[in-house]
Amino acid sequence: MSGNQKRRLLFTDIDGTLVAHDTYDPGPSAGAVARLQLAEIPVVLCSAKTRAEQEALRARLKLDDPYVVENGAGVVFPVGFPGGRAGEGEQELVTFGLSYREVREGLEQAARETGVTVKGFGGLSVEEVSDLTGLSLTSAAKARTREFTETFVIEDPTSESEARLAAHLEPLGIGLLRGARYWMALGKHDKAQAVRYVISRYEEFGPVKSYGVGDSAGDLGMLEAVDIPMLVQRSDGSWADLELPGLMRLQGIGPEGWPQAADAALAP
Ligand SMILES: [Mg+2]
Repeated sequence: MSGNQKRRLLFTDIDGTLVAHDTYDPGPSAGAVARLQLAEIPVVLCSAKTRAEQEALRARLKLDDPYVVENGAGVVFPVGFPGGRAGEGEQELVTFGLSYREVREGLEQAARETGVTVKGFGGLSVEEVSDLTGLSLTSAAKARTREFTETFVIEDPTSESEARLAAHLEPLGIGLLRGARYWMALGKHDKAQAVRYVISRYEEFGPVKSYGVGDSAGDLGMLEAVDIPMLVQRSDGSWADLELPGLMRLQGIGPEGWPQAADAALAP
């Protein structure tokens, strides 16, 4: 890094962005991650996935940069991160939301009050999570290891039962996100706050230029918080319907388009 050049950081969503949706395979993005590592540009994972889920991917890609877990509920700084607040040989975990126990208890309370039957991952066996999600048993175990947020299904969901549940969670400081197959109950935190925090930690050492790449509306907070927002194409070839100043729409579905995000961060 030359004297007056800004330090660059690349934030990335995982599912459908860095790795393919169905296969979870990084494909061409693995080589692009390696190029960024050679250039000492941190690749900061930022997704709804748990720490255990992200650690598996980090090991596979040999990543040793901070990462944002469970939709911005926490940021993990690796052992030895410069300026780290953790003890010797320890990871540093910074949290922004409620604890898993608070979210789970709130969800149970709201379910009781509304008579809506919910099944949270925390109350399911690994086999049941695997059946529900289509994940392998190993992956289901990692998805079930939650620290901040609860993923759940509603039995016989209707828009009415969902709204009732949301109304009872709101005063407890718990929000609801709807995914493709399940819901997530979470404290009032978002990816934008966590991304800004990571940027601020790097800014302790000098000016930063931040890049971010995602594939869906769920990545909006991350993309709003960075200098250069980018989208890869979704599996149908379209881009998520987001409008942001300077948004770059990359050619290529998920990890096929991801190397262009690396190129942008590597450009002179
Ligand atoms: Mg995604």
